[in-house]
Amino acid sequence: MNSDLVVVGSGFYGLTIAERCARELGLRVLVIDRRSHIGGNAYSEAEASTGIEVHRYGAHLFHTSNERVWDYVTRFTAFTDYQHRVYTNVGGEVFPMPINLGTVNQFFRAAHGPEAARALVAEQAAELAGTEVSNLEEKAISLIGRPLYEAFIKGYTAKQWQTDPRELPASIIARLPVRYTYNNRYFNDTYEGLPVDGYTAWLERMADHPRIEVRLDTDFFDTTQPVNKAAVVGQVPVVYTGPVDRYFDNAEGELSWRTLDFEEEVLDVGDFQGTSVMNYGDEDVPYTRIHEFRHFHPERDYPKDRTVIMREYSRFAETGDEPYYPVNTATDRERVLAYRELAKGEKDVHFGGRLGTYQYLDMHMAIGAALSAYDNTLTPLFRAGARLGAPE
Ligand code: FAD
Ligand code: UDP
Repeated sequence: MNSDLVVVGSGFYGLTIAERCARELGLRVLVIDRRSHIGGNAYSEAEASTGIEVHRYGAHLFHTSNERVWDYVTRFTAFTDYQHRVYTNVGGEVFPMPINLGTVNQFFRAAHGPEAARALVAEQAAELAGTEVSNLEEKAISLIGRPLYEAFIKGYTAKQWQTDPRELPASIIARLPVRYTYNNRYFNDTYEGLPVDGYTAWLERMADHPRIEVRLDTDFFDTTQPVNKAAVVGQVPVVYTGPVDRYFDNAEGELSWRTLDFEEEVLDVGDFQGTSVMNYGDEDVPYTRIHEFRHFHPERDYPKDRTVIMREYSRFAETGDEPYYPVNTATDRERVLAYRELAKGEKDVHFGGRLGTYQYLDMHMAIGAALSAYDNTLTPLFRAGARLGAPE
């Protein structure tokens, strides 16, 4: 074969590696993807009847504080000044998320200042004083106390994860800030925005290089097509961004993933919910949230009499489902370690990205990790003929 590097998966991780290796190292890179489009889960397209950009695999908001990542991504796209804000419907009432002074005061029908609100929450979190928090439930109660936990987190988390919150890692909830101000921005990062011409234009520009070839509808495990695992591994260096358990035929057991079902609807109203994302915290509402895509791009000239919404449902992934979020139970974590050991034995195969490392990675983290792998693993490999290592 006439490629120097095979990249399995055209998500942000794979495309960052491909772009760097083609442009900086002059390599001929073949990118394969089993889907019929590039971009992995960040892919978006215009809904046919309205032209409204829909994120096919759930709403994607770009944000980062990493200067190197920001410098890199702005080579391929400009960003709008969109700032993400989320509201949550609990008990038929709408509150701002993440939990901030506005949420606390609305919930307790109070007008506390920051200090009084802190004192109130500390009192409600006192049940855990002096104990070491080791899971999502304890972490949440230690941050916001039991009443706010039960209203805003418990039901939503139960719907999203279908796992006892005491078995989920504290890190899931640690992603959500708690603020004693009225600032209700969802993200704290220095840079935030949406790609001006959409995600797919950005992703296509990354792949647009004469030394990059992209082959879609091509599964790495399909031995009837020429570029497959058996034919390639050991012959050409590979960057693999598919599920790590699948690579090893689930030899150490299947890793558990959560998948999402999306129900899209075009409505004959100009504005359905007045904002881009509305969470539903109550357990008896079957979906976790509703996205209304027009609100991601208020600067665009979208039809004024129609809108596109998407209800999001969450459940455990079964064989054949798209894996979205690693569940990360204790068993999963043991299995991941076993897969990392196996990965070390694979000649010239680098495992990366969300699926390849079984880690929840935001886009900026996937891009940042790919830039590091390019520096620390791929550049030395191609400069000195070294061997590729295990996932970071
Ligand atoms: P992916 O984008 O998943 O790409 C992997 C690619 O590998 C896929 O295209 C897949 O088809 C391909 N592949 C897998 N197996 C094979 C095979 N056997 N053969 C060939 N190809 C294969 N990040 C944010 O920063 N902000 C957000 O708001 C945000 N929202 C998200 C919402 C959802 C619902 C999800 C699931 C993720 C969200 N993310 C968000 C994370 C973002 O999607 C990831 O950071 C990004 O997709 C990581 O890129 P990746 O290249 O690692 O993986
Ligand atoms: N979460 C919650 N209620 C909400 C929003 C989030 O309980 O209204 C919890 C839930 O456990 C979720 C976690 O916080 O998995 C992280 O939320 P985030 O919005 O980052 O999840 P994502 O958008 O990545 O699904």
